Amino acid sequence: MQDVVIIGAGIIGSFLAHDLSKYDLKVCVIDKENDVANETTMANSAIVHSGHDPKDDTLKAKLNLRGNEMYEDICKKLHVDFKRIGAYVVATNDEELEELSRLYEQSKRRNVPVRYVEREELVKNEPNISDIAIRAIDLPSTGIIYPWEVAIALMEVAVANGVDLHLGEEVTAIEKSENGYKVITSKGVIETKYVLNAAGVFADDIYRMVSDNVEFDITPRKGEYFVLDKLNQPLVNHILYPIPSQKGKGVLVLPTTHGNTLLGPSSDFVDDKKGINNTSDYLGYVRREVGKLVKNVPMDKVIRNFAGLRPTSSTHDFIIEEAKDAPNFINVAGIESPGLASAPAISEYVIETILKNKLALVKKSDAIDSLPPITDMKKLTEEERNAKIKEDPRYGHIICRCEQISEGEIVEAIHRNVGATSVKSIKKRVRPGMGRCQGGFCEPLVVEILARELAKQKNDIVYDDVESNVLVAKKGA
Ligand SMILES: Cc1cc2nc3c(=O)[nH]c(=O)nc-3n(C[C@H](O)[C@H](O)[C@H](O)COP(=O)(O)OP(=O)(O)OC[C@H]3O[C@@H](n4cnc5c(N)ncnc54)[C@H](O)[C@@H]3O)c2cc1C
Repeated sequence: MQDVVIIGAGIIGSFLAHDLSKYDLKVCVIDKENDVANETTMANSAIVHSGHDPKDDTLKAKLNLRGNEMYEDICKKLHVDFKRIGAYVVATNDEELEELSRLYEQSKRRNVPVRYVEREELVKNEPNISDIAIRAIDLPSTGIIYPWEVAIALMEVAVANGVDLHLGEEVTAIEKSENGYKVITSKGVIETKYVLNAAGVFADDIYRMVSDNVEFDITPRKGEYFVLDKLNQPLVNHILYPIPSQKGKGVLVLPTTHGNTLLGPSSDFVDDKKGINNTSDYLGYVRREVGKLVKNVPMDKVIRNFAGLRPTSSTHDFIIEEAKDAPNFINVAGIESPGLASAPAISEYVIETILKNKLALVKKSDAIDSLPPITDMKKLTEEERNAKIKEDPRYGHIICRCEQISEGEIVEAIHRNVGATSVKSIKKRVRPGMGRCQGGFCEPLVVEILARELAKQKNDIVYDDVESNVLVAKKGA
């Protein structure tokens, strides 16, 4: 019998698992994907927003502010990047100037650091700013992360502290039982006293498994992006936001922590909760909108497109509460933007305002806060690199030429406690396939290493989920 079952191993499930792993509890996480952070947490703008934007008196506003405060320390402990590069919200006409001053006042009221930036300074700090940009507000507390790096590091700590992680296991039904719930999955039945529903775009479907009176719907709102290769001169130094509209924060231009540039996202409701294909219509929209913020956009440097689905709720706010007709079943739903920025605060809120009233939460004396990171050869000095290669020559064998990743780093990623089992999960942990060639050179080598280290046949190695085998048959078969 588990004390708590968390459904979903996105950023929300990972923070919950990490934080609950510090207490004397039996915790289990279930995700239908074969890796942590494989849905919305994998495809977004990766911004830890300042908290300037959500509507007053919402959980979004409250938890975004708190989350922004919490991120830096957490990322330091987890050995993952957090870069507080700051953001400009840019106005391009008189109407937008009015909205800019509303955002300025709102930020001031919330104690979000903010100041006006006039065109002259904008041009100095952002040489590619568009010719129609008039004025901006500077939000220096805004940061960037790599969301799946955070989620994986959180889950590794959770597992090291005893959390039971079930990947590749879909929750198909939930039954009420004498002591709580029976969670029925594609692989068996898990009994638990409490359920935390952190299932992203599927949270309403999971809720329907225990309730006939579900008061909210989750509709996927798709966002599509372009990714630019690493440039000799950065296109932008800050995150550039346009003035927000009914559709949300708008099409942005921003650097990533690993030095690429993101252009996007679009914002359109779609029917398909699995529909993360790219479309020329939405990408065309992104391309036109980007032109309002910056000029000289090197579209010939696009190396990838992707799309993510925002779990937009019919309440337009985060839904974090015990279900009215299902005791001890707690919804953590409707976590659209600023869900990433708020994630540490969402977990804190669930524990402090809901679970602490129900469970005797006793801290473990031997829980750990972090694990040593995977070796990053690029961060070592030449002397350290040479010593590492002498000790294990696989660290001198470059597999990914674009990102300069060695075999040793890939092997480490496979043998972590939340180890990589697919080509995509290697890419998420150590980046082969993230560079200019997008895996053209390294993918066959990664397949070989995975097969060798996991003692599998090469034909059995998948790119991502169960049916995405990279090789389909032996030559001549
Ligand atoms: C285009 C876009 C841009 C965004 N930009 C930002 C941003 O810059 N800053 C920000 O703060 N937020 C941003 N967000 C929002 C942020 O990405 C989300 O709030 C966050 O990732 C949600 O995390 P989650 O853990 O709730 O959901 P997910 O990451 O989707 O995790 C839910 C998990 O539940 C699992 N699951 C679902 N059903 C089942 C089942 N039946 N059985 C087992 N497992 C199941 C899924 O496999 C999935 O792994 C953006 C979102 C999008 C789409």
